[in-house]
Amino acid sequence: MADQHPSSQCGCGSGACGNGGSAKPSPASIQFKKPASAPAKSAVPAAAAPPSRRQFVGGALRGAFLFVLGAATSLIARVSQKERTVWQIDPTKCIACTNCANHCVLTPSAVKCVQQYPICGYCKLCTGYFEPEPNALNTAAENQVCPTGAIERRALEDPYYEYNIDEELCIGCGKCVVGCVVFGNGSFSLQIRHDRCVNCNECAIAMVCPADAFVRVPASQPYLLKTREKQG
Ligand code: SF4
Ligand code: SF4
Ligand code: SF4
Repeated sequence: MADQHPSSQCGCGSGACGNGGSAKPSPASIQFKKPASAPAKSAVPAAAAPPSRRQFVGGALRGAFLFVLGAATSLIARVSQKERTVWQIDPTKCIACTNCANHCVLTPSAVKCVQQYPICGYCKLCTGYFEPEPNALNTAAENQVCPTGAIERRALEDPYYEYNIDEELCIGCGKCVVGCVVFGNGSFSLQIRHDRCVNCNECAIAMVCPADAFVRVPASQPYLLKTREKQG
């Protein structure tokens, strides 16, 4: 009896101990190992604490700020996409009434005569250049319709002559425009020169123009020029 294993201590499981191989290890002999992959206690997420009133208000203010910032950015993008406009004269409406010379806030006026060579007739007797009954077809001042001598007449191959505007001298009176429209092709017309115009919010000429010829046009295409098609 003395060399017999107490069943409570035998763990051979082979029956060599005479315990029939059915002995089970006692609870005291079982080794519990901590699994290598077991998470550390500190890595287990703790239940989230509810935000304090201060945190809640701070979050709401940040959200409101981001919303306002987004709306302002969108508004700025829309405004910058909307194209800037400038004043211009519609030559199909203008009656060359002389108000352009007298009512611009600038002296001389920002309105100038422009010559549109593609539709000019290069006439020897230019009715935009000469008085209705000139003494002679020469460049003497008394024969010219322009009060400031702003039109240069240059001989080309006979009988053709070229007419050029000196914008420094032009005051935008429109007298040459009237003459050209009456007897010529209408190649003289008035236009606002944008290297001079200060783009008044309320253009002094627009307010007195009798023909509603002052209009706003896109700044990217600031001139309204006549063409043969528009002349009909
Ligand atoms: S005020 Fe009007 S109609 Fe008169 S010249 Fe100027 S644009 Fe032409
Ligand atoms: S916008 Fe001002 S500067 Fe330009 S043509 Fe009119 S009055 Fe003259
Ligand atoms: S007639 Fe008047 S609009 Fe024509 S070029 Fe002379 S100043 Fe200018």
